[in-house]
Formats: sequence, C-alpha cells, structure tokens
Amino acid sequence: MSEKPRPRILMIYTGGTIGMKENPVTKALEPFDFNHLLDNVPKLKMLDYDISHHQFHTPIDSSDMNPRHWGQIVKVIDDNYDNFDGFVVLHGTDTMAYTASALSFMLQNLSKPVIITGSQLPIGEVRTDGEENLITALQIAAARDTDGRPTVREVAILFENYLWRGNRSTKRSADNFDAFRSNNYPELAKIGLGISFNKEALWRSKSSSPQLEVHYDMDTNLLCLDLFPGMRECMVRHILNTPGLKAVVLKTFGAGNAPAEPWFSEAIRDAVNKGIIVVNITQCPNGEVDPYRYMTGLELAQTGVVPGHDLTFEAAITKLMYLLGKGLNTDEVKRLMQYNLCGEMS
Ligand code: ASP
Repeated sequence: MSEKPRPRILMIYTGGTIGMKENPVTKALEPFDFNHLLDNVPKLKMLDYDISHHQFHTPIDSSDMNPRHWGQIVKVIDDNYDNFDGFVVLHGTDTMAYTASALSFMLQNLSKPVIITGSQLPIGEVRTDGEENLITALQIAAARDTDGRPTVREVAILFENYLWRGNRSTKRSADNFDAFRSNNYPELAKIGLGISFNKEALWRSKSSSPQLEVHYDMDTNLLCLDLFPGMRECMVRHILNTPGLKAVVLKTFGAGNAPAEPWFSEAIRDAVNKGIIVVNITQCPNGEVDPYRYMTGLELAQTGVVPGHDLTFEAAITKLMYLLGKGLNTDEVKRLMQYNLCGEMS
C-alpha cells in the first residue's frame, strides 16, 4: 500500500508582530528574523509536513507594505508553485487585508491555498496568539478534499477562530485576538476542536485545470475620498485635480449616497469627464451600494460613477490597481469593477 505523501508547505515570512521582539533599549517591537520564530514554536515539528521557508531580506512592519513587496510574494509563489501543496504567508495584521486582496488579483486562476496569518502578540510572548494561528494556517494549507485536491484554492486569512476570504476581509480590532472580519461574506472555515470548512463558501474555479497566471503591475495612481458632512468644495476639487490621478474610491454614506449640492455633483462629473474612474463604495462595514435606492445615490450614478456594490475598501483599491496595471481602457476598467473576478463581490 502506497503511503500518502507528506504535505509540502512553503512559509513566506514578511515580518509583522508574529516575529517581532522587544528592543531592550527603546522597548518598541521590531521585526526579528525567522529562526527566532521557529525556535519559539517547537510544536511545528509535531506536524508531519515538509515545511520550507522563505524570508523577506529585511522583515517589515506591514505598515511599510507596498506593491513591490506584493510582487516579491507573488514571485516566490510562482517560482515554487509546482513544488508545494500550499503556501502560508506570515504578515503583520495592519495591512494584511490589503495584501490578501492584492494577492487574490495578482494570482489569477489560483488552485492551491495561500493562507495569510500573523498575530496580535509576538510569538515569543507567553500569551501569544501566534503559535495557534501559525499551526492552524499550516493545517489549512495542507487540507485535502477526498479527491486529493486542496480544500482551499484561494487567498484566505486565518485569524483566531476563522478563515476568511482574503479579498472580503478587513482588520476590525487593534487589540482583540479575533482581529478580522468579512462583513459581507460568510467564513470559509470555523476553527474549534476541529477545522470545519464551509464548503459552499469556498471559491471554486469554473475551469477544471486552472493554470496560474501571475500579474505584477499594480498602478497606484489612485486616491480615496471619504465623505463627511461639511466637506469643502475647494478641497474636494483639489483632490480630484491631483496630477496623474486615474481613479478614486469614493466612500459614501449608507447605501451609496452623497450630498446633493450642485457643486459636489459638478466636481464629480468634471472628474469623470476627464476620464477619472470613480468607484462608489459604502462607509458602512456591512451592506452594499444600491444606486437606485435614494435620489442622492442615483445622481452619483448618473454622473458616471461606478457602483462598487459590496466591495471592501481594501478590495476596491487593489482591484483598481490591478485593472489599471493591466493597461485596460477606462470603459473596460469600469466594466470589470462591477464584475466578480475572484470572489471579491456578491
Ligand atoms: N504593526 C504590526 C504590523 O502590521 C501589527 C501586527 O502585526 O499585528 O506589522
């Protein structure tokens, strides 16, 4: 009888609290190196997996994360795609949801798990959440369906008791161990005594043998305009006249509403007429933009603003970077912003 091969997992360590250590002089947490992390999780040896690792040359606090780093992660996954069954990315929590969203677009046709995790307390601390998060992330990356295919075939965030779709996730707490949520999509798995996958929620490609397609160019000529009562025309116009601006994520009230004052509609219309893509998402953590519900939302749609439906802010920003980076024309970007590419919108 042939034995089942041991799952081969590649861990990619980018930095973040999970691998940080207190600086004895400043007392601030600083990124440390990967060996320190392995020394602190002897239990890893109890998993019957072949675990290899790749470490960022200089581990970073994830507040320093940028599209060049995303490209590095994508390259490591692409170079090692055929040699591993799954990938675990260790990452700071602050920008984890942005990285998860970006990777979901940059790794098109993914058919293996890319599980991103980190922790709120460094792994060397007694009450750390890092050890459990790391071990569970590895177990999820190694999980197989009865036909031998990976259970998870997408980018996901594992944190505390849940596995969330990467491009649906948001960091919701700066100090709670249960730090992430996906407000518009159910969990992919719930972690209790066992790991209980929510099979209906998992992403399944329409193609039976998807070929990984990697994409590196992320165009960052975009901005966010977060509405609040009392916004001044000169400031809104200043933002919309930023040289080189190609797209704006407009964070609106409720179901996608904005002030009906003529100067506001005019400023937005001028931007749209200049070819700037304006995408409407709601400031509410839960729910979606419905441009036909209120007059104030309808007016925006009539000026050519694209409804972003229930996209998270992180997904809206990174999806625009990805589509603009592909060099598509404005109409095509607008069309695809309303089309579900990899589970990012309902
Ligand atoms: N500032 C840290 C980071 O994002 C926070 C964390 O890892 O939880 O890298």
